[in-house]
Amino acid sequence: MSFSGEAKAEMCRVKPQRECCVAAEIYGSLIFANTFDCGEIRLSTENAKFSERIQGLIQRQFGLGFDKIISTRKGNVSKETLIIDSGEKLQTVLGYYGYDLERHVSLRLNAALLEEEHCREAFVRGMFLSSGSVTDPGRTYHLEIVTRHFNLSREVMALLLDMGFEPKSTMRKSNYLIYFKDSDAIEDFLTKCGAPVAALQLMEAKVEKDIRNRVNRQVNCDAANISKTVNAAQRQLEAIKVIEEKGGFELLSEELRFAARLRTENPEASLGTLVEEAAGAVSRSGLNHRFTKLIKIAEEYEKR
Ligand SMILES: [Zn+2]
Repeated sequence: MSFSGEAKAEMCRVKPQRECCVAAEIYGSLIFANTFDCGEIRLSTENAKFSERIQGLIQRQFGLGFDKIISTRKGNVSKETLIIDSGEKLQTVLGYYGYDLERHVSLRLNAALLEEEHCREAFVRGMFLSSGSVTDPGRTYHLEIVTRHFNLSREVMALLLDMGFEPKSTMRKSNYLIYFKDSDAIEDFLTKCGAPVAALQLMEAKVEKDIRNRVNRQVNCDAANISKTVNAAQRQLEAIKVIEEKGGFELLSEELRFAARLRTENPEASLGTLVEEAAGAVSRSGLNHRFTKLIKIAEEYEKR
């Protein structure tokens, strides 16, 4: 199952204690469903647990069932579409949430139903179950909720801000997206929705990624140092070769010949290792200075 599916399955195991929260979760689920108006309530989901849950909650809250349940299957994905279209049931549900069956205006949030923090959390859970998704944290950090309704998206943004979240919003085709990119915010959101295990998985994925990045940085850093050493040794060896070919080696001072022999005998050693090899005969800066001089001499020879 996808990470999103697992998070939803976890949320579906939450048992709402208060009746107000049952109503709030149903509200979040339905207002973010495909259709929520005076003609029809239509909710499509690929999550069988959520389908089961919303049917149970509506039965518990309103004592009614959906008028139609349509199951479809495309490849590996099965989908259930739950529909309420009978006037009496629509009246019951829409009326409860304060919507007028006669009038159809743009969909707004009835914030009066969401005064309490427990109800807000239940509402947000319903909303995520109905139209949210979260990306596998092994790939990237992204959680989003989608709706076709502009005013609803704005009002839910305000609700989330009031709950201490800092969601972002954008448009995708004709839909309004509310989304989070920050891993801490996604963890908080999942926890509030009743999926602390998914939140923990996200945290673990983040820690693992951090460790991997740190190890990679270290490896890259070591590799860079190694290649620096190799490049420096290579330049020194080439310089010594040039000097030898031009017959200049015997003309060098004893100090420079010593440095050249040390390098030729230890072609891959770092400067530090060479200083150790020299056993006190030369300091690190002294040896570095001699190599610089050898390279300059070789350059002089090459100019002639
Ligand atoms: Zn409540």
